[in-house]
Amino acid sequence: MTASMTHVIGVDLGGTKTAAGVVAPSGEVLMSETIPTLNRAGGEAILDATAALIAGLVERAADAGISVSGVGIGSAGVIDAVSGSVVSATDAIHGWAGTALVAGLSARLSLPASAVRAVNDVHAHALGEAWLGAAAGSSSSLMVAFGTGVGGSFVLDGAPVLGHRFVGGHVGHFASPFAVFSGLPLACVCGGSGHVEAIASGPAIHEAFLRFGGYSVDAPDTRGVFTLAASVSDAHDGGADADSAGSRAAAVRAISVGAAAAGQAVGGLINILDPETVVVSGGLADAGELWWKPMEAALRKELLAPLISVPVVRATLGNTAAIVGAAKLVLK
Ligand SMILES: [Zn+2]
Repeated sequence: MTASMTHVIGVDLGGTKTAAGVVAPSGEVLMSETIPTLNRAGGEAILDATAALIAGLVERAADAGISVSGVGIGSAGVIDAVSGSVVSATDAIHGWAGTALVAGLSARLSLPASAVRAVNDVHAHALGEAWLGAAAGSSSSLMVAFGTGVGGSFVLDGAPVLGHRFVGGHVGHFASPFAVFSGLPLACVCGGSGHVEAIASGPAIHEAFLRFGGYSVDAPDTRGVFTLAASVSDAHDGGADADSAGSRAAAVRAISVGAAAAGQAVGGLINILDPETVVVSGGLADAGELWWKPMEAALRKELLAPLISVPVVRATLGNTAAIVGAAKLVLK
């Protein structure tokens, strides 16, 4: 029997779930599976579960006559892409910091360590979009994701720019003039204050809604803020009471401020990096024109004149972006 072309496994290891797929050299995801990330169980338990997930896919691939030659992982946290270990991570995954990700998986899977590679999940996501998604064909691309947090990656000539200490891409953590309230900078999840993430992330939009006088009963979470704001443009009956009208106004304001902060931040990064293509992704980018329009308007307003025609596009690969990006790390 002729050996099939080399396939690899791509893994997207996030705070709540871990998805993996068998990826063809073309980037096609042939089979995939998702498990919950054991985010309270510690690094070794997560490695056990992830190795079992991968081994199951390798077996399914073998049944289909496909051999797997390597494993690429995009993982939450700051990942040392040389040693393959987790430099630091938030408590979203308890005990993840310090885990020997590549060594632990290669030992469990009996693969040579050189056949396993890992980067941060946002870098994997951006690499996927740069390879096969919204930035395919561009020699450089900046991807920024706005969701539970704010992160990004600059992909240059097919490789994400990781930085000397692998911290590169933390685009949620620089100053935004929007991240203030009553003259004081807003606290950021990183421990700093006044950062982009403190005003432009999904949770930050809900917090802004409450600061602007919205009632949590009208919008208990970020999704609720968007539903409430969308109802403004639909409502023509004028029958709402004063309190819920106040909540609606707060919802519209929170989204427009968060979107403007996001757009200004991305615009500034474009001025610095001059990427061929800009990809905006994450839950907020998928929330529709209510967020996208003010985001893009603020972004365009920020650009230096020679950059005004830079393409700014939505991510296109969805949940498979990080899987194919991670696979690309080990595909020859
Ligand atoms: Zn911060």
